Amino acid sequence: MPLDFRIKHINGRARRASLVTPHAEIQTPVFMPVGTVASVKGVPQDTLEELGAHIILGNTYHLYLRPGVETVRKMGGLHGFMSWRRAILTDSGGFQVFSLSELRKLNEDGVTFRSHLDGSSHFFSPESSMEAQIGLGADIIMAFDECTEYPADQARTRASMEMTARWAARSKKYFEDHKHEVPWNQYSVPSTQYSWPERGAAASLPLQNAGSTASDNRVLSTEYCPTQSLFGIVQGGMDPALRKESAQRTVEIGFPGYAIGGLSVGEPRELTREIVESTLEHLPKDKPRYLMGVGTPEEIVEYASLGVDMMDCVLPTRAARHGLLFTSEGKVSIKQARYAQDSGPLDPNCGCRVCRRYSRAYLRHLYASNELLAQVLNTIHNLSFYLDTMQRVRHSISLGEESRFHSGV
Ligand SMILES: [Zn+2]
Repeated sequence: MPLDFRIKHINGRARRASLVTPHAEIQTPVFMPVGTVASVKGVPQDTLEELGAHIILGNTYHLYLRPGVETVRKMGGLHGFMSWRRAILTDSGGFQVFSLSELRKLNEDGVTFRSHLDGSSHFFSPESSMEAQIGLGADIIMAFDECTEYPADQARTRASMEMTARWAARSKKYFEDHKHEVPWNQYSVPSTQYSWPERGAAASLPLQNAGSTASDNRVLSTEYCPTQSLFGIVQGGMDPALRKESAQRTVEIGFPGYAIGGLSVGEPRELTREIVESTLEHLPKDKPRYLMGVGTPEEIVEYASLGVDMMDCVLPTRAARHGLLFTSEGKVSIKQARYAQDSGPLDPNCGCRVCRRYSRAYLRHLYASNELLAQVLNTIHNLSFYLDTMQRVRHSISLGEESRFHSGV
């Protein structure tokens, strides 16, 4: 099994689990920082490790256009290319095709689109998305889906959901036929030398030695032949009945994990929550559930309490670059003049390297001076805040203290 998901505690609807992939053991519920083009903007990989990120995201659309899948594949996949020894998840590229590229033309086969970089024409299908994601070599990859726009009428939402279901079956078929082509296989060492780690131990492929730590050096497996895991994606717009049908059809095809897509696309937050809640009811309890593209610190805590295991969002990194910082005392817009002579830390309750060392006055000055360091430090703090928030959530679930989920955020 390329993926091992073990629930350790259940508290209400929330679950505390461990998810073991070929490159890492991940404690869930987890927040996954977004590394769009094989880089979490402004944050070096060793700092991400220090912050406790065990899984990060890459975007297939961006990486396919630049540097290109073949370049990454030749470097041993994203792990080798970006020197990241822990887990990676890539999206299918569908969402970016629909949101970033122009002149897209969609039919049953797939979608033709123009690159937002140079206008060149490209084609993505379930098969080519799988081919690209196998070449990129993330631990977890996503079925090619159509993210239904908001608002959309019932007929349009149904047609889109049905296409996503057919594309999910095609994604799985291609993946099953080609999963052995994952680029890490060439880095695998003779099987006798390695053993599948004990339950609870961190797993890691013997890729390259950069950034390795003692726990990263646990190894791979006897008969274990590492492959990626393909997750299915539930669509169905804002219609609970179509969400239910989409969930059932996706579960019928059968995946080791399920994502809820098509949310946070402009709908009111109340509706997002409602759809998340109703969709979760129809997903298997023993498989990881991934809510794509959410949310604020309050929202990720709330979704975890509803039973979501994995989340990602550009918000902490993007907001940081605009001087918007999340703290235990609420949001701080560091550009404001009121911080110009504030000698206190950004967040007195945060133990990150930024809060331990620098004052609000200095961070405000860096931002006002348009210094690169402002983006770096702000991003490190925001990511630390998100990751620490999830750590508190996991702790609360273990202790059976649901009410404490909502404190400290
Ligand atoms: Zn901090």
